[in-house]
This record gives sequence, structure tokens and C-alpha cells, in this order.
Amino acid sequence: MKILLASSEVHPYSKTGGLADAAGALGKSLAEAGHRVGIVTPLYRGIREKFPALRREDWHFDLPLGSKRASAELWALEPAKGLTVYFIHKPEYFDRAGIYGENGADHPDNGERFIFFSKCVVNLARYLPWQPEVVNVSDWQTGLVPALVLHQSRTEGWGNRPRVCLTIHNLAYQGYFPRSVYALTNLPPEYFIAEGAEHFGKLNCLKAGIAFADMITTVSPRYAREITTQEYGEGLDGLLRKRQGQGRLTGILNGVDYDEWKTTGNPHLPASFSVGDLAGKAAVKSALQRELGLPANPTCPLFGTITRLAEQKGMDIELGALEEMLNADLQFALLGSGSADYEREFRKLARRFPARVAVRHAYDHSLAHRIEAACDFYLMPSRFEPCGLNQMYSLRYGTIPIVRRTGGLDDSVVDVADNAAEATGIKFSTYSGPALAKGIRKALAIYGDKSLVEHYQLNGMRADFSWGRIVGEYLKAYSRR
Ligand code: ADP
Repeated sequence: MKILLASSEVHPYSKTGGLADAAGALGKSLAEAGHRVGIVTPLYRGIREKFPALRREDWHFDLPLGSKRASAELWALEPAKGLTVYFIHKPEYFDRAGIYGENGADHPDNGERFIFFSKCVVNLARYLPWQPEVVNVSDWQTGLVPALVLHQSRTEGWGNRPRVCLTIHNLAYQGYFPRSVYALTNLPPEYFIAEGAEHFGKLNCLKAGIAFADMITTVSPRYAREITTQEYGEGLDGLLRKRQGQGRLTGILNGVDYDEWKTTGNPHLPASFSVGDLAGKAAVKSALQRELGLPANPTCPLFGTITRLAEQKGMDIELGALEEMLNADLQFALLGSGSADYEREFRKLARRFPARVAVRHAYDHSLAHRIEAACDFYLMPSRFEPCGLNQMYSLRYGTIPIVRRTGGLDDSVVDVADNAAEATGIKFSTYSGPALAKGIRKALAIYGDKSLVEHYQLNGMRADFSWGRIVGEYLKAYSRR
């Protein structure tokens, strides 16, 4: 199949979260399975310097944008056989310090930036010589692509248009802009309707994608069900129920790129370990304890969290649970940045418990590997979690995840109550500090029994969330008639 993926972030070129990991790994895995794949993404600041093999293509975008026209260059890279990564080079929009914003505030022209990007995606879908059969867009940033493709095929003689699949990585971010921004799409008013791009008088880019895509996927089966409910539907549950009723919504659990997240020969880790020999994990743990300035005590259970410090991630209940549990003999390491309030609260905790709590407010990919590998337990108490990746990285690294029963967390972790023989982690349901604290107490009980710890660890390390297995599910979604 010939597939064009579009994403506002793609690992290893740009990343703020799981979307980048998923877009990069899906593209790579589809190409490995023999498909012709393109990934299109903006050329952000610093990418050209880090990837000198990037070359400029003989392609010039000159596209209407409201009453003006906007132009851009196309750059490309072929990181693997059958895979081309196309970069939209438009410095006014993309050569900035932050991908979506700076200093905690969104860029004020995000609507314009990503409408233009979406138009470039459509232009490539239409004119690339290899003629993609499917365009798979992601989240609100490319949410207008389905409507743009539909409109051009209806009115501009674009016969045999590609099918457009929207993947929702997070329903909470919808690309909500004043009505005036709709003019930049150059679409007629017929798409700006309550069952389309309009939402309470404003432009909602993700809603437009849900309404006009041929197929919608989201990143776990449980989240696919959750988003059709009022509780998790973020105001779009009605439309999602309609699309589900039409057989157009499906959940496909994200995978892990095991070439990157590996416990042997990993340049980010000071020692290797594996299912056959766990000894190196203790060396990684003591190295991390030293790196973070915690007492290098091999028998003290080490808990970790790596996250965006955002409301979604359950940091309020994590703070509550730690408050309750920090009198016990345990250590906790946090790598996370985001909300200034949460950063302050975690720093306070570290000051009060310097021998127990270490916090780093940074984005540090290499440290993320070390925390994943060094910890005994990983805390992920999300309020909602479309898929979540860190719990799956934990499993591979022999680190037992403690997660709330929601979205992809529920789909990827096995609790002893689900299946004792195959248990990989600890799950709790109620969104509260005491419920998480109870999970931590269960962890401490498990920690006292070395063979039980190993039982969980080995089950987790053997679990297979490789992308190779997932590719078939995407192909099925792409082919859905
Ligand atoms: P989300 O996309 O909602 O942020 P996911 O669990 O799907 O959550 O993916 C988060 C990704 O971002 C993971 O690969 C995680 O390791 C990474 N990440 C988050 N915060 C940091 C950080 N401060 N430093 C390094 N990596 C981080």
C-alpha cells in the first residue's frame, strides 16, 4: 500500500509527547513491512543542523491562505528503504523556539500555522508522483485535511482521491479558534456546520477531522470506547458516537520501538540487563541514585515518573499519595516539566525529603531512559490516558507500573486481579490520592518478596508491544470501505 502520514511532530526530528514516537515508529514499521511510506512534518528550528543529509526538493508550495497566498519549500530525507520524510520549510511559521508555544503560552498564530501545514499535506497527497492511496493524519493540527481533500475532489476534478484516516492521539487538544480563522481554510461555509468544523460558533479543527475522515482510529481500544461517553468525550462524544455507529471508529494500541527502548547495548544506560540476567538493573539503579543525589541504597524501593506536568497526568493525586507515603522507606524520582504550580509542589517535596525525593524539571530523553530502567516501580495515575507509552517502556525495562485503570493503561498492564499468572503491574480505579497510595502499599508488599518481583518483571519484559504486530491493524483500518 502507498501511505502518506502527516504529523506535527515526528521522532527523532521533533517531539513534545507520544504523538512523535507513534508517528515515527508507525512510518518506519510500515516501510519495513514493504509499503511505500511518506511522513510529512514541519521543518522546525535545528532539524537541518542535526540531520545534514536533508536535501531540498524540486517542489514549491504556493497556496491560498484566506485572502493571501503563502509559499514554502519542501525538504526531504530517506532514513530507510521505502520511507521518505518530507519537511515543510516555512521559517516564518516553524523556525521558532517552541513547536506549539513559548514560555507556557501557545503561539498566537497556531491556527494559521497548522492550516497552512494541512494545505501542504493535501498538496503533496494530490501531486506526489507515487500517488498515496491513504493519507493518515494525526490530531487537530492536521484535522482539516479530510475536509480539504473532500472539497478538492468534489470541485477540482481530483479523481481517485486517497482515503483519509484520522488518528486521535489525544481528544483533549482540539485546535479551537475564532470563527474568523476558518477563512484561512478557503473552504465554503458548507463545512462550517455543527456536524462539521463548527463548535459553538468557533472553528474546531479536530471536530472537522472526525466529521469528514473516511476512518478514525485512536490509540487504544479502551480509549476508543471511553471517548464516546460524556465523561471522556471532551464535548465531541455525540459526533464520535455517530461515527462509531457508522463503523468508522476503532482503537489500535500504540507500540514501542524496541530498537530504541532496549535494555542491552543502550547508549543511555550504564549497564545492560535482560530476561536471562537481571543483575545489570541493580547497577543502573545505583548509578541513577548517585546521578540524582539520592542515597545509593540497593534495597530501598525506587519509584519514578516521567511526564508532562499537565492536569491529564494525575499529578494532583500523585502529590497526595506521596504526601501519604513518604514516611515509608522509599525513594521517588520525577522527570517532568510543564505547569509551574506542579513544578513548585514537587520542588517543595524534594526540599522536605532530600534523601527520598529527587526532581528534575527538564526535557531529557537520555535521563528518561535511565529512570525507566533504574526504577523498581513506575507511577502513572493519569486522569485519562489515550494510550500512554511510559508504562510500556517500564514493562520492557523490568520496572513494575502502577497505573490507573483508564485508556491504554488498562489495555497494556495486567493486574493480579485480571490474571495472576500473567500479572505485570498494579492497577487502581478511583481517581484519588488514597487509591494511588494503596497501590504504592501493594508495591511495597510485592517488593518484600524477591521471587514475586521477578515474576512481575519477567512477565512485563516478555510482553510484546512491537510495532511490527500493529501494522496489520492499521492496514485493516486504511482498507475499511
Ligand atoms: P503524552 O503524549 O500524553 O505526553 P505518552 O506517555 O504517550 O504521553 O508519551 C510521552 C513521551 O514523552 C514518552 O516517550 C516520554 O518518555 C516522553 N517524555 C515526557 N516528558 C518527558 C521529559 N520531561 N523528558 C524526557 N521525555 C519525556
